[in-house]
This record gives sequence, structure tokens and C-alpha cells, in this order.
Amino acid sequence: MRLTVLLLVLSACSAYADMSACACDPARPETMTVRPCSLCREAEKQPPDIDFFFLKDNNPRKPNRWLLLPRAHHDGVGGLAQMSRAQRTKMWRLAIERARQLWGDGWGLAYNGDKVRTQCHFHVHIGKLLAGVETDRFIVVSGPEHIPVPKDGTGLWIHPAGDKLHVHLGEQTTETVLFR
Ligand SMILES: [Zn+2]
Ligand SMILES: [Zn+2]
Ligand SMILES: [Zn+2]
Repeated sequence: MRLTVLLLVLSACSAYADMSACACDPARPETMTVRPCSLCREAEKQPPDIDFFFLKDNNPRKPNRWLLLPRAHHDGVGGLAQMSRAQRTKMWRLAIERARQLWGDGWGLAYNGDKVRTQCHFHVHIGKLLAGVETDRFIVVSGPEHIPVPKDGTGLWIHPAGDKLHVHLGEQTTETVLFR
């Protein structure tokens, strides 16, 4: 019985590793035709000299969502850590600026953990924070340059709190705190 459970856990882990350790190569477009690479293909359509771009979430069940993506492929596991500190700060600043334009002080950002992400290309979800989602698992930071990089493959979600930011840590599925 115990062995069966262990085997199930192991097979689930390898399935996830296949998904997130994406084997796509921008130099070989034929490697990006699979569904988890659809955002990789969107990145390749962008002008080569830009750092970041916005996309409306194309999921018809999430009509109020936007995404922010880097043009470069920080794909698969640990995308945040693949960026330089300066790139991360710029990315969070852009995401917050757009989120505030869309939702005023009601905005939220979400980055899913490595285990639940279904697209290999790095992306941050931008939306309206739902009511009642607050927890006590957060740190308070004063600006985008202080948003940490999770080291354990978990995601994070962010929302304003006065003139500071809450960064909620330690969760895999984070985008569910945002209005669809
Ligand atoms: Zn890909
Ligand atoms: Zn990519
Ligand atoms: Zn909070």
C-alpha cells in the first residue's frame, strides 16, 4: 500500500518535471509547437529589441486578466531567478504600473509556482484582487526592488497595503486570488 502511494507520487513528479522543464529552443520553431509553449510563440512575435510586453489573457473564462511577459525566454523552472535583479525590478515596476491603471488600489499580481504552471514561458498575471483572500503568510516591502525570489519553486502574489506592498509567499497556485 505504502509503495503504491510512493509510486503515484513519483509518477506525478516526473509528469510535472516534463511540463516545466520545457525543451523548447527559440532557434528551432518546431520545438515550440506544443501547447505549453504558446506563450513562447507569442514572445517570438514581438520586436527583438523590447524587454517586456503585455498580453490580454486569451482564456475566455478570464476576460479581465492581463499578462506581463519578458521577450527573452526565462522558461521552465525558476524563471524569476533566471532574470537579473535589474530586470526583475523593471518587470515588477511595469506590472504594478499597468495593474494600477486597470484597477486603481484594488490591483493584484500573481506568479504561479513551478508545479502548477501550465505554460513554460515566464508570465505574471495582472488583475483585480478578490475580496476576502488576505492571509497572514506575507512579508511587507516598500517597493518593486525588494520583492524577493522564492527559492523553493513556490509562487507569490502581491497587492498594495497603504504605501507598501504585501508579498504573499509559500503557495503554488496564486492566480486564484485575482478576479477572472
Ligand atoms: Zn516553451
Ligand atoms: Zn519561452
Ligand atoms: Zn496581504
